[in-house]
Amino acid sequence: EKRVYFFGNGKAEGDASMKNLLGGKGANLAEMTSIGVPVPAGFTIATNVCKEYYENKGKWPAGLRKEVDTNVKKLEKAMGLKFGDPKKPLLVSVRSGAAVSMPGMMDTVLNLGLNDEVVEGIIEKTDNPRFAYDIYRRFIDMFGDVVMGCHHEKFEKALHTAKQKAGVKNDNELSADQLKAVVEDYKKIYKKEVKQNFPQDPFDQLTKSIDAVFGSWNTPRAAKYRELNNITGLLGTAVNVQAMVFGNMGEDCATGVCFTRNPSTGKKEFYGEFLRNAQGEDVVAGIRTPEPLKNLKKEMPPAYKELTTIMSRLEKHYKDMQDIEFTVQEDKLYLLQTRNGKRTAAAAIKIATDMVREKLIPQKEAVTRVTPEQLDHLLHPHFDAKAKRDVIATGLPASPGAAVGQVVFDADTAEEWAKKGKDVILVRIETSPEDIGGMAVAKGILTARGGMTSHAAVVARGMGKCCVAGVDAVEINYKTKKFTCGKLTVKQGDFVSLDGSTGQLMKGQVPTVEPELSGDFGKFMKICDKVRKLGVRTNADTPEDAKRAREFGAEGIGLCRTEHMFFEGKRIWPVRQMILAAEDYAAMLTRLDEALTKKEETEIKKEYKDTKKQFEGALKKLLPYQRKDFEGIFKAMAPKPVTVRLLDPPLHEFLPQDKASQSEMAKQLKVKPSRVKAEVEKLHEFNPMLGHRGVRLAVTYPAIYRMQARAIIEAALNVKKQKKTVKPEIMIPLIGSVDELKLVKEEVVDEIKQVFKEKGTRISYLVGTMIEIPRAALTADEVAEEAQFFSFGTNDLTQMAMGFSRDDAGKFLAEYVNKGIYAVDPFQALDQNGVGKLVEMGVKLGRETRKTLKCGICGEHGGEPSSIDFCHRVGLDYVSCSPFRVPIARLAAAQAVV
Ligand code: ADP
Ligand code: MG
Ligand code: MG
Repeated sequence: EKRVYFFGNGKAEGDASMKNLLGGKGANLAEMTSIGVPVPAGFTIATNVCKEYYENKGKWPAGLRKEVDTNVKKLEKAMGLKFGDPKKPLLVSVRSGAAVSMPGMMDTVLNLGLNDEVVEGIIEKTDNPRFAYDIYRRFIDMFGDVVMGCHHEKFEKALHTAKQKAGVKNDNELSADQLKAVVEDYKKIYKKEVKQNFPQDPFDQLTKSIDAVFGSWNTPRAAKYRELNNITGLLGTAVNVQAMVFGNMGEDCATGVCFTRNPSTGKKEFYGEFLRNAQGEDVVAGIRTPEPLKNLKKEMPPAYKELTTIMSRLEKHYKDMQDIEFTVQEDKLYLLQTRNGKRTAAAAIKIATDMVREKLIPQKEAVTRVTPEQLDHLLHPHFDAKAKRDVIATGLPASPGAAVGQVVFDADTAEEWAKKGKDVILVRIETSPEDIGGMAVAKGILTARGGMTSHAAVVARGMGKCCVAGVDAVEINYKTKKFTCGKLTVKQGDFVSLDGSTGQLMKGQVPTVEPELSGDFGKFMKICDKVRKLGVRTNADTPEDAKRAREFGAEGIGLCRTEHMFFEGKRIWPVRQMILAAEDYAAMLTRLDEALTKKEETEIKKEYKDTKKQFEGALKKLLPYQRKDFEGIFKAMAPKPVTVRLLDPPLHEFLPQDKASQSEMAKQLKVKPSRVKAEVEKLHEFNPMLGHRGVRLAVTYPAIYRMQARAIIEAALNVKKQKKTVKPEIMIPLIGSVDELKLVKEEVVDEIKQVFKEKGTRISYLVGTMIEIPRAALTADEVAEEAQFFSFGTNDLTQMAMGFSRDDAGKFLAEYVNKGIYAVDPFQALDQNGVGKLVEMGVKLGRETRKTLKCGICGEHGGEPSSIDFCHRVGLDYVSCSPFRVPIARLAAAQAVV
């Protein structure tokens, strides 16, 4: 069994398709090598070895030693160098790299192979003692920190002291002698902390470093990153051992990071940063402020030309925007890493759309390049352009967005405050992977140091979070929990606003506005529409919502709730009047049913004259209101279909619960307060969600649904008269049996026929039902005999199928998720194995009876990507979700196809 894969001199044992086994970094180093990109030679220990290592309780599996040694020999041969040989020393980096990119989460050791002898050899060979001591002190620092657990800060402090003593600001200004002294200091620190001398044997160094990379797979911060990003099912990390190239040998050397397109805006341009005379992490760590890539064109023209040629080649090869690490050693360019670049939501959309236009990728591929979360982020607010901005300072626009919140200075406080529901802005000198939890909960991130590719910037862009980096003017004091900027002092808890698109830091809370969607957004959504098969409708109860949803691309209303209309303005009074008369009215209906003679009927009617007047009069008052509501909605949605759900909630929801409101109601309706109170008590239910609601109301009071059906059809006819197409779909909620539906449907259809007769005209309409009681799903073949369409009301269906009360389960449901009983909250993402089976069965049985039965879903799940994917798979015709989720549903529906 092969465990180690070599790459070098234009040949590689691995390739880009082997990410699972070689990790992203290793697979791409191999691929780049094979296609002729200049990559320093090296070898990759596969990810499954990491797994073996853990199964082996931290010991190397048998045979690994030999394979590593063989590959070191191969590497020595390829480079013409030798490990530990002062005359021609081979130095290597030991780099981690899992299948999924985890920026900065795993540790790298550079310059491995150095010791007291080798360093002298390098001085002799290069005649550059400054360089030799610089890499040695870096090696001791990294090896000490990453491998032996001697904290980097200890070394950093010694370096700081050395710089102060020398009177310089940057480490590249230290002389050779000064660096030599630093090396001696570092060795002392190492010895003090590790209680051993710094190891001089390169093989010993290598073994310990490989162990450390394996070990870093399970550090709390790596585990936290995987948890935050839902990364599961990986074998472990690969270990890449690669010959060193040096960006810190002098002014003809540099190291940098670049992107084939702008990762903030998506613009097609070479983008990046570099530092001259620097090594590896310097750019990312924000140690000095880097130069923009375009300067390289003037400073090192041949290297720039080769780099940009390779950038274009790599993008064509991988068919995606690449994030590339490079080093220039004595004017010669080397590539050290390439991967698909992280990008902002706006950039993701622009790049996907542009690449389709450039014919680099097909539409089906383009829809996978933007995540639903990114789209969601794009739909989030920006700052109001008209708002006054009290700008304190400006830094780099590292990750766009508008963030308003209270300043905190450490990740723990950020998490604590966020838990209490506060919006926080995390302010750090620079961030490190330990801050990841705090960054995840913060509204925005501000750093005083670091560039566009600093840790803070990269992580924030990945999270779609607003970040302003490198605000030099800000002086942070962690001890006093304050920062100053000129004369201004900002304390922990003070409000600030961050603009991630301009880099501005502002005092106080700057108002935000809804986002406007750019041209690329529209183009991208059109691509999604071409790919997807599922329809996307919206849940909208008002013409305004309907209009907004149409702007977001809704193809109809899947759920228009009518109950809110009962609350608006003065309408509540006839509603309440109706409720007070309801019981007597129902009694009247029963008695009329039982009446044997016409005479008896007349007497009953006389007896209930008042009740009838109260009840039917109230409905008459409501009719014009409802009609007008529907007219507005039909107009806003024409010519798309509108599904109107008839009254659903239990009647008690329309009655006031507190005493003051109850006496007001008594006064308004001219009854005694005790009468109101009695009614409220009478309507009280122990389980209102399982009580007298939905179609059950219409079984008792058919007149209510009749009034609503009349309002819908009259409105439809009125709007049709204005030469607009109306497609009303009347939806009866909460049915459990076909007979229940049949009974109520007959009433509704009868009323509609009357309307047609009165108006002398007609319109086509559908009558369908919601499937939200498990019994309805189980008997869907029967239900479909009466229903012209199904809409799965998965909120209630989940509640009833799982037996979780929507109103009470919140108290304990989180525990179920934490303990892994259910993977996610079933009210957020459809429980596909359980509740989903009811949906699947409902569709299948329903279509056995009615082949073309239209099936949709309304409820929270209709806007949730994993549930949308499920809906696509079980063959629903459409999903329906809130207006703001419509674009996300369009994208998720397209991704479901791919
Ligand atoms: P990360 O995953 O944190 O980016 P890397 O393994 O990519 O870690 O390495 C960290 C830094 O060191 C990068 O800037 C990289 O380019 C640089 N580096 C890694 N290996 C070498 C090498 N063999 N020669 C020169 N620089 C290297
Ligand atoms: Mg890297
Ligand atoms: Mg319901």
